[in-house]
Amino acid sequence: MKKLILASNNLKKVKEMKELLSDLNIEIKSLKEEEIDVEVVEDGKTFEENAKKKAKEIYELLKARGEKNFLVLSDDSGLQVDYLNGAPGIYSARYAGEHGNDKKNNAKLLEELRNASSDERRAKFICQIALFDEMGKYYPITGEVKGIILNEAYGECGFGYDPLFLYEPLKKSFAELTSEEKNRVSHRGVALNKLRDIIEDLIDE
Ligand code: IMP
Repeated sequence: MKKLILASNNLKKVKEMKELLSDLNIEIKSLKEEEIDVEVVEDGKTFEENAKKKAKEIYELLKARGEKNFLVLSDDSGLQVDYLNGAPGIYSARYAGEHGNDKKNNAKLLEELRNASSDERRAKFICQIALFDEMGKYYPITGEVKGIILNEAYGECGFGYDPLFLYEPLKKSFAELTSEEKNRVSHRGVALNKLRDIIEDLIDE
């Protein structure tokens, strides 16, 4: 069976990606499960540059190992807030300085938005996916979802900025949604659904 390697060390992202693709006839593996201990430096200027770099480095490593019958997928994602002219953007994971400290990132976001009106609190999550097939062919896909940044955190689920991200159609923050609800509407869900047909075609090759 073909293997899909998820080029991410973010376990929450990996969980969501596995849930979203679980019905496909492909074995989905995280870097950890493949015993790949690599931290790709995200020094690109765009989500796309970073996503492509992460997937390509892992693709090259697998090729060098002589792996066959695999695909590599990476996700570079983040939050863009109108009032902050698109920040934190590609710096979402390290907005408050320390990589992956969700608590500090959320506190900084609330502080930066203390004078923003509700209209100025409009925001969107972006998910940029990079897929490489075994021949090195690259497939870029983007997904996004709109929301509003709340005045305080709500909910315990999800990760990152989820407790501050109001999804208006359900009148709940992303952290108040079940994982099924979030996956149905999230930037990651939108992007991976767009990618589904491409992966299905590659499985059949
Ligand atoms: P990356 O690992 O550079 O792609 O960083 C992604 C960062 O964007 C995460 O650390 C979160 O802060 C934020 N982010 C991305 N996707 C989500 C999501 O689905 N919910 C909440 N925060 C997210």
